[in-house]
Amino acid sequence: MDINPIKNWLPNVRKPIIISGPCSAESRGQVIQTCSKLSKSGKVSILRAGIWKPRTRPNSFEGVGSIGLPWIKEAAELTGLPCIVEVANAQHVKEALNAGIDMFWIGARTTVNPFSVQEIADSLVGKDIPVFVKNPINPDLQLWIGALERLNNAGVKKLGAIHRGFSTFDKTLYRNVPKWDFPIELKRQFPDLPILSDPSHIGGKKELISMLSQKALDLDMDGLMIESHIDPSNALSDAEQQITPTELAALFKGLIVRRKDVNDDELSSMLYKLRKEIDLIDSDILEKLAARFKIIEEIGEEKRLKGVTILQVDRWNEIIATRKELANKLGLSDEFVSRLLQIVHKESINHQIKIMN
Ligand code: PEP
Ligand code: MN
Repeated sequence: MDINPIKNWLPNVRKPIIISGPCSAESRGQVIQTCSKLSKSGKVSILRAGIWKPRTRPNSFEGVGSIGLPWIKEAAELTGLPCIVEVANAQHVKEALNAGIDMFWIGARTTVNPFSVQEIADSLVGKDIPVFVKNPINPDLQLWIGALERLNNAGVKKLGAIHRGFSTFDKTLYRNVPKWDFPIELKRQFPDLPILSDPSHIGGKKELISMLSQKALDLDMDGLMIESHIDPSNALSDAEQQITPTELAALFKGLIVRRKDVNDDELSSMLYKLRKEIDLIDSDILEKLAARFKIIEEIGEEKRLKGVTILQVDRWNEIIATRKELANKLGLSDEFVSRLLQIVHKESINHQIKIMN
């Protein structure tokens, strides 16, 4: 992809790049008051407001529609900050461009649909407007990249991505599970692409925002999109996850922004030494695993000769119980060890299947 780095089109932007504003524009007063307060924190770089809201069920608040566009534009002019709205089809693009909106984002429910993304991309040909693409609702990195590529092919070079987590059937702590490996892999493949994290939609509740924001910064995300409302408990959408501009300013005070570069001699030689140790440990782990699979194959051969099944549930239970006990003593988390054992066990079964057949 041919990406124009953000420092070229938002020259005054400071890292972390913060997009903030209400989930939904509800009234002129609510948008202007929220945005003026946000701008006073000095940390917000872009003002957001949802105009057309994609809602799961009908008859919930579906946004004020295009009458809200002048409100966010006015807030942008008052504060001197650029503004961004969500667009989900060509009509939204047309109306938002007419209203002089500075940037667009594509929501998670739109990113999943290549037809919609293509329609938006086609409507942006020849328009030099920045677009941020939220991850699709389902954990599919190719779909996320595909949406970015459709825009890029239409000539949109001022691109960014927003990580807002993924929907799951299971009840979890989060509204949308973060699956951090997705934004990390996106960053690895497209180093010029700014990636912001959206702790509001990942967490779904205000208590999680600070922890998720810190994690995003520690994973070298370029910024955050955080929803803010002057009166969150009376918000018409996402009331549980919005925070006041004052709460947002307090949140910024608590965040630690670490530096990314390691060109500091003392630190580099220290990292070099420690990374050598890691390299050795990793090769030990791999050699031990290879040795383990050799023995697994010998066992497989014995099972084949004696005609017994590969899966021996009692032995598997014993492995889980004893390894977890040891892991606990070693300070490893239960969840990690369970996942590791599952992978090793699955691979062991595969080895024995080969031997047996
Ligand atoms: C939003 O940002 O208000 C929104 C609808 O987000 P998402 O597309 O991530 O659900
Ligand atoms: Mn929202």
